[in-house]
Amino acid sequence: MVKKETRIINVFSNEDAYSKKTEDLLRQKLQKSGFYVPREFSPEAELIVSIGGDGSFLRTLHKYDFPDIPFLGINTGHLGFFEELYPDQLDQFIFMYKQGRYEIQNLKTVKAEVKDGDKIVEYKGLNEVVIIGDRTRTIHLNISIGESFIERFSGDGIVVSTPAGSTAYNYSLGGSIVDPRLSILQITPIAPMNTTAYRSFTSSVVLPQELYVRVNPEHQDSNTCMIVVDGMEHKHDDIKEIILEFSDTIVKLMRFENYDFWNKVKTKFL
Ligand code: NAP
Ligand code: MN
Repeated sequence: MVKKETRIINVFSNEDAYSKKTEDLLRQKLQKSGFYVPREFSPEAELIVSIGGDGSFLRTLHKYDFPDIPFLGINTGHLGFFEELYPDQLDQFIFMYKQGRYEIQNLKTVKAEVKDGDKIVEYKGLNEVVIIGDRTRTIHLNISIGESFIERFSGDGIVVSTPAGSTAYNYSLGGSIVDPRLSILQITPIAPMNTTAYRSFTSSVVLPQELYVRVNPEHQDSNTCMIVVDGMEHKHDDIKEIILEFSDTIVKLMRFENYDFWNKVKTKFL
């Protein structure tokens, strides 16, 4: 007799009580349905369930370094743009999951290669990479797109957003909402200065997949720059150059019947 393969599902939640309760309930239900739910992250899992909001989903994604395993988000009372279900839909989820009645939405990620002194550090983000000054100082960034020098930006900073991140910080800054089926990166300014002293683009610019963005910060009274990736801050003291482009990593999100990007946008924003 052939031993049936163990089907493993990772389940994680944020710290709030409702999320923890939902996690316990889901663990029980999954084990009853024949799945194995380990206490620690298993790279052999076929699915990762994240219970919380977008913020906790992003933190789980980074904690396990963008695993090549589909994610399902269960929203416990935040905005929940990445989340597909609510805690009252656990039975429905298991029923549909076992029947394979779902689709995988593939989301592209952005990477930033940061040259700090003689070190090179690489970051990856699902939403965006933000380049911003330390504290409230004006930052000056020389920005090139592909081989062409485009502008010397002056202001608070810039956001380089993926389509998935277009509805997050990018949108608050007046950037456009981008359908994730498109492969474009958007550079959106944060408080761009436009005076006789400084000239910066005031709207987002949108780039095709094949172009990269090069940023050379101009250090004046402080050399410190913050690189904020999906809300996680990294301080750098001597950045010479930052190269931004799409990374090869894809994030797979589980979506069920009737999922429609624009319907999601409508229900979350209007
Ligand atoms: P946070 O400051 O607690 O939350 C920012 C808000 O953005 C939350 O409501 C979050 O949803 C929502 N969000 C995250 N990703 C989204 C997406 N792709 N589409 C639509 N909304 C999204 O920080 P956080 O929860 O750790 O999330 C990190 C993100 O916050 C960053 O990647 C950045 O995009 C965003 N952010 C926004 C602003 C702004 O709008 N002014 C400023 C800084 C950072 P949940 O409520 O479900 O967590
Ligand atoms: Mn949040």
